[in-house]
Amino acid sequence: MQLSKFGTKFTARTGILELMDDLAHAFGGKERMYMLGGGNPAFIPEVQHIFKERMRKILEKPGEFERMIGNYDGSQGYIPFLESLTKFLNAKYKWGLSSENIAITSGSQEGFFILFNMFAGEFNKGKKKKILLPLAPEYIGYADQGISENLFVSFRSKIKYLDKHTFKYEINFSKVEKYVEKNKEKIAAICVSRPTNPTGNVISDNEVEFLSNLSKKNNLYLIIDNAYGEPFPNILFTKAKLIWNKNIILSMSLSKLGLPSTRTGIIIADREVIQAIKSINAILILASGSIGQIITYPLFKNARILRICDKYINPFYRKKSELALLYIKKYFDDSLPYYVHKSEGALFLWLWFKDFPITTKELYERLKKRKVIVVPGQYFFPGLKANWKHKHECIRITYSQNSEDVEMGIKIIGEEVRKAYKN
Ligand code: PLP
Repeated sequence: MQLSKFGTKFTARTGILELMDDLAHAFGGKERMYMLGGGNPAFIPEVQHIFKERMRKILEKPGEFERMIGNYDGSQGYIPFLESLTKFLNAKYKWGLSSENIAITSGSQEGFFILFNMFAGEFNKGKKKKILLPLAPEYIGYADQGISENLFVSFRSKIKYLDKHTFKYEINFSKVEKYVEKNKEKIAAICVSRPTNPTGNVISDNEVEFLSNLSKKNNLYLIIDNAYGEPFPNILFTKAKLIWNKNIILSMSLSKLGLPSTRTGIIIADREVIQAIKSINAILILASGSIGQIITYPLFKNARILRICDKYINPFYRKKSELALLYIKKYFDDSLPYYVHKSEGALFLWLWFKDFPITTKELYERLKKRKVIVVPGQYFFPGLKANWKHKHECIRITYSQNSEDVEMGIKIIGEEVRKAYKN
């Protein structure tokens, strides 16, 4: 098979493909695996019950089910969904949005593909622009999305030690600012996930303000990936102010509410950006998928979504995170130099084994032999030029699956890590 440049780049064995293969194998294969990789949200019975009830109503209402599966919606989204989400967000945040400020994508993953490639890449006269990721490690799913090579530039985070086994990443303000001031012609936008996948970090309001001011001053968009943030799914264990203005492109998703298979991503942005996404959507996917939008639009209309997140989703993951941290304390050798990133949100714990004698890719292979799936750290540093040993000393684990599996997985990780340090 002869492939174009695009074909070659997009069929490579990427980190995200490895992760999705592990996920498919763990959930669809015959072997019992301890699935601490992937980012699948949990099955929360109370939340699933609400979605089931909604589906029952859709089935009972004459014509509603037929409409849901039988129509192509517009390439911007399903109008009642756009309208109810606009009203909901305006009531909560007073952003003064109209439905022309919102577009639906086929999962936010597709939204990022559009945003990154429409702003960055190759321009006329050999000019190139990049997406700046101010805080590495950053989401694995961005890494291979560029149609052109080297779409990202990123910066090592500063490490703040919080106690014997806990740390937090922070943005290196002066380094990022200096780079932007010097290279503003070569940057298209700044992008950050908040809460961050893989680390569970939530950059502070102060850090968001810094990025917002820096992007405004230099005429860049600031893309905030809010897949886990407030108001939904609100998998946040710390206070974080959500801001939006015409300079900010806010990405949200229905996935972590428990609807990943409906592939519903939401972009909130300036009208000009939304028009562009709508046009690209028409080419890539024709229309947005209706199922997630039809299931949820009444929940935005009456703001019930907030109660669902506060009452079920947030406490569920908060408890899971606390439990996973307890397992780590129980099964990891206290004398080893291991660290866990402060868990402030999302579905993950990020573990750092300082001065680890093997790479975490090797640890991943050893764990896989023992039926434990994790994600090695090296994939989470897109655009980082510096040869940072830290990349190979970290792993991401998810605590969203059942607690027995998480406990067993963490126990086995503890054993393998101890073995590696010993040998
Ligand atoms: N952004 C972040 C930070 C994520 O963790 C994910 C998925 O795990 C996505 C975006 C993409 O999610 P989806 O395409 O399901 O909306």
